[in-house]
Amino acid sequence: MKYYILFGPPGAGKGTQAGAMVERYNLCHLSTGELLRSEIAAGSPLGLQAKALIEAGNLVPDEVVEGMIEARFKSVEGVNGFLLDGFPRTIAQAEALDKMLAKTGEEVTACVSLMIPDSLISERIAHRAQIEGRADDAKPEVVENRIRTYHDKTEPLIQFYKAEGKYCEIDGVGTIEEVKERIFGVMDRF
Ligand code: ADP
Repeated sequence: MKYYILFGPPGAGKGTQAGAMVERYNLCHLSTGELLRSEIAAGSPLGLQAKALIEAGNLVPDEVVEGMIEARFKSVEGVNGFLLDGFPRTIAQAEALDKMLAKTGEEVTACVSLMIPDSLISERIAHRAQIEGRADDAKPEVVENRIRTYHDKTEPLIQFYKAEGKYCEIDGVGTIEEVKERIFGVMDRF
């Protein structure tokens, strides 16, 4: 199985590009943000635990997302691999992912990183807030906290995957079509 990580700051266009990637390479799209939002919508205990954290722009505990991901690795069939979107988001999650995959002698295939400048992050999220109505997109201070959290906790993953020779950076500035072609250009090599 292939295990691609779709990496990038909030608003980089991960969700936008994921659909085309999943279709072209027959992958299962696993977005921890989407999985958490459906837990919240369903009013499950996990959703209740996650809601306040997400709406404040903080991360949910590592164990929570790790559990959600591992359960899907075990249950999904008929695909060539997985597209991990929004996971891992901390070094601890990346290490947990490596351990999960090592159990079956597998490993991360590549970290496909969509990069945009901070100035564009706030602009794109403000635009998305009007379209999707996500609670964590609405308040500027929450968006700022998410950007800070990204720089503090998530950005160190760039070095982590560079050290493993798995880091592939793509310029996320451009039209949806342009960025998609850049992504395919990279993923076709794996
Ligand atoms: P975005 O990429 O726009 O920040 P996501 O949909 O990926 O949005 O995530 C929304 C929120 O869900 C995050 O701000 C965080 O609170 C929570 N979340 C998602 N994935 C993780 C993760 N891997 N670890 C911890 N929290 C997560």
